[in-house]
Amino acid sequence: MIGILEERKLQVFENGKDSYGIECGKSSAAGSVSQRACVFCGSRVVLYPIADALHLIHGPIGCAAYTWDIRGSMSSGPELHRMSFSTDLQEREVVYGGEKKLYAALTELIAEYRPKAAFVYSTCIVGLIGDDVESVCRRVERETGIRVLPVHSEGFKGTKKDGYKAACDAVFKLMGTDDETPVSPFSINILGEFNLAGETWIIKDYYRRMGIEVVSCITGDGRVDEIARAHRAKLNVVQCSGSMTSLAKTMKDEYGIPFIRVSYFGIEDMTKALYDVAARFDDELITRNTIDLVSDEVGRLLPRLEKYRANLIGKKAAIYVGGSFKSFSLVKALRHLGMETVVVGSQTGSAEDYEYLKEITKEGTIICDDTNPLELSSFILNKGADLLIGGVKERPIAYKMGIAFCDHNHERKEALAGYEGMINFAREVHDSVTSPVWKFSPARIRARISPDQGGAI
Ligand code: SF4
Repeated sequence: MIGILEERKLQVFENGKDSYGIECGKSSAAGSVSQRACVFCGSRVVLYPIADALHLIHGPIGCAAYTWDIRGSMSSGPELHRMSFSTDLQEREVVYGGEKKLYAALTELIAEYRPKAAFVYSTCIVGLIGDDVESVCRRVERETGIRVLPVHSEGFKGTKKDGYKAACDAVFKLMGTDDETPVSPFSINILGEFNLAGETWIIKDYYRRMGIEVVSCITGDGRVDEIARAHRAKLNVVQCSGSMTSLAKTMKDEYGIPFIRVSYFGIEDMTKALYDVAARFDDELITRNTIDLVSDEVGRLLPRLEKYRANLIGKKAAIYVGGSFKSFSLVKALRHLGMETVVVGSQTGSAEDYEYLKEITKEGTIICDDTNPLELSSFILNKGADLLIGGVKERPIAYKMGIAFCDHNHERKEALAGYEGMINFAREVHDSVTSPVWKFSPARIRARISPDQGGAI
């Protein structure tokens, strides 16, 4: 069994056994090869889906390659976001500064693509060489008439959460400029939904059926003009609270817009999200529409889940995702499939999030903050998980250990939100967990216990 580094011991908790409060929100322990992404990556994943904006990464090409097309983030129109532009800083600029190169890249790209706005991301090296990114952005904005927004996201300067904050600060600067376009009294902004595989369209359709206008989705299938009038919506509905709570708080302070936290994953949380929004408007027609929508959707969904559940009862799952709010819904959704969560962790969870995870998981569940591959593998082995739910960095861990994997992160191509998403999730988990391929995995063979016999590896 692999041990846990001394400085990480308070970031790992076994439900029912350890009595200390879990530590979180701190810098990753040096040498632990964290699964967590950097500050720059945090800001990039939040802003990336704004499809009619230019995204220019000021730094070495590696930072751009690391986040190239990092999210599916589908667009119903322009696709400028899918290009990964970089100033490609070399040794020369590291010595003499990269401002000239940034100015040249920005003016050339704006002339070529005429974007609605441009985001300029500062990476580690820019923080080290001290380029004045703000002044270059101001100059280009003055000369071109296009909003150019610096994103202060030097990778080393904090955790991925600091990148979210930098992204929220940049988005907020786009708001407040459109006071003309009519906005319904029953209107919302969706915050923290990124349209990875078309989820924004599913959720928007639910709100449309309820009689609610979505002014902007920040940032799934996002448009600069929609963000410009987002300050006039009546309610902010925050899904990814890790990334968007800071923006929701700023909008509350500056524009008086209240916000609620929701999740669009799983049956209970999806339903609660719709009812919570309806309750905020307290309108008879909206309430009736919501009841009809939910009974319709849930009535069709439950019988379809049964065939998957029959094969999954008693299987165990490990979850390691970016934001912990998502993990709450996953624990509940897995329960609908007859599965138990035995390991759950996140890159950016807060103390309250981990407290809630303690409440909804069983005794013996490992709850961890900012884990690393060795720890995660050890927890999976120890608890005998049959499935790992995670993202791009967790997929190889699952495959090397010979257990099933479900992608619940940036790159997935399957919509997992809403009632349709629950069926897709059930199918994906089912097909992976019951696949015969795992019994040929070297890790399984070494463990000499076949998954068919219901044993742990
Ligand atoms: S910003 Fe820094 S930590 Fe992030 S990818 Fe670039 S070099 Fe790596």
